[in-house]
Amino acid sequence: MENVRVRFAPSPTGGLHLGGVRTVLYNYLFARRHNGQFILRIEDTDQNRYVPGAEQYILDCLTWCGLQPDESPAVGGPYAPYRQSERKALYADYARQLVEAGYAYYAFDTPEELEEMRNRFRSEENPSPQYDSRIRMLMNNSLAKPDETQKWLEAGKPYVIRIRMPENETVHFTDMIRGEVHFNTGQSDDKVLLKADGMPTYHLAVVVDDYLMKITHAFRGEEWLPSAPAHILLWRYLGWADQMPQWAHLPLILKPDGHGKLSKRDGDALGFPVFAMNWTDPKSGETTAGFRERGFLPEAFLNLLAMLGWNAGTEQEIFSLDELIEQFSLERVHKGGAKFDFEKAKWFNQEWIRKSSTDRLLPLILPYFEQAGIQADPERLGTVVPLIKDRCTLLPDFVEQGAFFFRTPEQVDAESIKAKWSTDKQAFFQQWADELPEKADAASLEQSFKEKAAAANLKAGELMLPLRVMLVGGKFGPGVFAIAEIIGMAETRKRINHILTALA
Ligand code: GLU
Repeated sequence: MENVRVRFAPSPTGGLHLGGVRTVLYNYLFARRHNGQFILRIEDTDQNRYVPGAEQYILDCLTWCGLQPDESPAVGGPYAPYRQSERKALYADYARQLVEAGYAYYAFDTPEELEEMRNRFRSEENPSPQYDSRIRMLMNNSLAKPDETQKWLEAGKPYVIRIRMPENETVHFTDMIRGEVHFNTGQSDDKVLLKADGMPTYHLAVVVDDYLMKITHAFRGEEWLPSAPAHILLWRYLGWADQMPQWAHLPLILKPDGHGKLSKRDGDALGFPVFAMNWTDPKSGETTAGFRERGFLPEAFLNLLAMLGWNAGTEQEIFSLDELIEQFSLERVHKGGAKFDFEKAKWFNQEWIRKSSTDRLLPLILPYFEQAGIQADPERLGTVVPLIKDRCTLLPDFVEQGAFFFRTPEQVDAESIKAKWSTDKQAFFQQWADELPEKADAASLEQSFKEKAAAANLKAGELMLPLRVMLVGGKFGPGVFAIAEIIGMAETRKRINHILTALA
């Protein structure tokens, strides 16, 4: 394949849904696989939906994921600008060209007239009447009222330009995922192409820019499928049909129960993130949780997204980005929606934590210790990470699993010791603690512990759990003598003595 150019074209309207990141990922994998370019284009022509900060947030999400575009508003490129609002001037000519050729028309209807039309045609079979081939001749536009049009234009009456959808034509195209797709144009409305303020709508801008930016393959969510016929006609009407990109409409990401598209609200209700990173709405100040802050590694996030709609055809589930670049193919992307399963998502993260080196994990988990107000010495944390990482699913779990290495546990489950406690045991611990050397490693501590237990006629096995609870606070953690070695002898003695006093 030659000169592959793909694009991710988000509208900066809020947080980035995981489905959006999956679209980025599939674009990126395809581009890398074919030595092509991956472009980020910001589709900000809808001023009403524009949210300040959303563009920077999208860039930050891509940076977090390590999916850097080759061309974007941030890095520029040969087809700049990459922000549609900055390209405003170039769209109107294309809209006029369409009007002149008879493929589009001026429409002067006021919002009240549009509302009136909807009320008039609303019925049980047609609950939301649209501006289409059946209705257009009853409205105020250059097709229905050619004689008035010139007058209205001269008088400066506000207008939009609408596409004139054919009454009854079959539009078809080959989708790289869905195969042959057919539409009857009679079902589509006459979409607005150019708004009264001179801004293009998404429909015009996406076609013009995909053309001007020489996009060869267009990946986008399945929710855009109904817009495809209008887009395909625009490619044809503008005379560019032979340069139209190949389409790939990606399967929806579904709610965990499989009923409907996964929304931000489902995440809020079920307690899992849906956005890539935390997103704070600038108007309401409300923050929606992101995978990053929840403690996902970007490697795991990408891996789980890759598998939401694709598989390699083998048992393999864990893939690095490089492996994905090598193995990803559109033939293996399925048409059906992919159910989102948060437990499975966490499993990917756990696997990636296991796979990751201490050097990789350390800088990511230190902030969680800081947030928890724990001063974790990085060197000691580096020793601790390999001991506890098997028990961590999300990055904040390192704090839960590792806090006791850095501070005396606030709460100790002494009750769990009490049940099987005895004066012999009390005496044993007292002596072992008193006789602890200045410094010792896990192996020698274990040896002395077992020897002294045998000498006192006690089963070492029955003493290990109390020791663990004394040092850790509860019944968890890695090898108890390794813990003692890391926290040091003075701290070990202190923790034991503290509980012995409570138990005495
Ligand atoms: N601007 C559209 C969006 O927000 C892009 C759709 C497309 O890729 O064509 O999703």
